[in-house]
Amino acid sequence: MINFTVGPVQMDEETRELGKEQIPYFRTPEFSSIMKENESLLCKFFDAPEGSRLVFMTGSGTASMEGGVMNFFSKDDKVLVVNGGSFGHRLVELCQIHEIPFTEIKLDYGKPLTKEHLAQFEGKGYTGFLVQLCETSTGVLYDMNMIGDFCQRNDIFLFVDAVSGFMADYFSMKEMHVNAAITGSQKALALPPSMSFTVLDKKAIERCQKINVKSLYFNYPAYLKDGQRGQTPFTPAVGTLLQLNEKLKRIEAGGGIKNQNKLARERAKYFRSSIKDLPFKLFSDEKDSSNCVTALCPTKEGVNAHRIFEIIKDEYKIWICPNGGDMAEKVFRVGHIGSISNEEIDTLTAAFRDLVKRGLL
Ligand SMILES: *Cc1c(COP(=O)(O)O)cnc(C)c1O
Repeated sequence: MINFTVGPVQMDEETRELGKEQIPYFRTPEFSSIMKENESLLCKFFDAPEGSRLVFMTGSGTASMEGGVMNFFSKDDKVLVVNGGSFGHRLVELCQIHEIPFTEIKLDYGKPLTKEHLAQFEGKGYTGFLVQLCETSTGVLYDMNMIGDFCQRNDIFLFVDAVSGFMADYFSMKEMHVNAAITGSQKALALPPSMSFTVLDKKAIERCQKINVKSLYFNYPAYLKDGQRGQTPFTPAVGTLLQLNEKLKRIEAGGGIKNQNKLARERAKYFRSSIKDLPFKLFSDEKDSSNCVTALCPTKEGVNAHRIFEIIKDEYKIWICPNGGDMAEKVFRVGHIGSISNEEIDTLTAAFRDLVKRGLL
């Protein structure tokens, strides 16, 4: 199978090699020093300000979305949440469950957030802002400089779900005034699912100390305290963290995060230019699109996007990424993260062309 989903994505040979090793015991100085290195490289790749720290959460990306909502916000906050797709909707649900007072900025799915959307919230006493970097369900990349400036001007704490956008798209916590940001192991880092990571700047560290979260497993101050000696309060996905260490060092040696952005950009461009003659409409404008994923709507009358996913899987041995909810029958996605070659992209576009020939697309 070739995997064009947005996670778990195709892993490198080096990552897979490590996956067959025994899992070592982890309460050791040797493992602690690997964790310290993981922390410092991830902070560097997020371009986090001096004094930033990392929380290593064992749990998928959603665990760190929920952990962030619980540890950075309380009933005394008033937050803005951008809902431009299923992941934005998840942030809304988290604010509801944890009773964080919020205002939802609901976008037409596939459309960007604009200055006009934000203008009405200027000077209105908001204290938090929750948004994705890339809304993975639609492929929209939000204008994080615009959002960061808005938050800076209004003294708003900015929490960014960069789970899918990290590494694929340019991202700098420093430049974009981001206080806390998350990613997950099975997205662009191309590791097995199991871990998610939150980078906290000094404000975020202070905030979680004051909130006094009512949770044992999601208690960020406990993670930060144990993290000082390269440990976690509970048993982490040790194997994934060793694969992470190898991957981060390989990224660093291969030109750093800048080169990763470039590779994702080139893959996305190559794919988008090779489907120009096919019966698809881009779900989001190319100028608003992330390098992480392309969301496509089949344009021919009666073609069901989910059915295309099934045929491509069963008859061509390729996974593309189906959409859920309201978008399921209209939209599917092709991911550009993980270890994917141009030859594999050619194989996928050849499969689409074959479907056209068969009258199915
Ligand atoms: C994948 C993803 C998540 C996390 O999903 P999990 O299934 O919990 O790993 C969160 N946010 C975004 C934007 C994502 O793409």
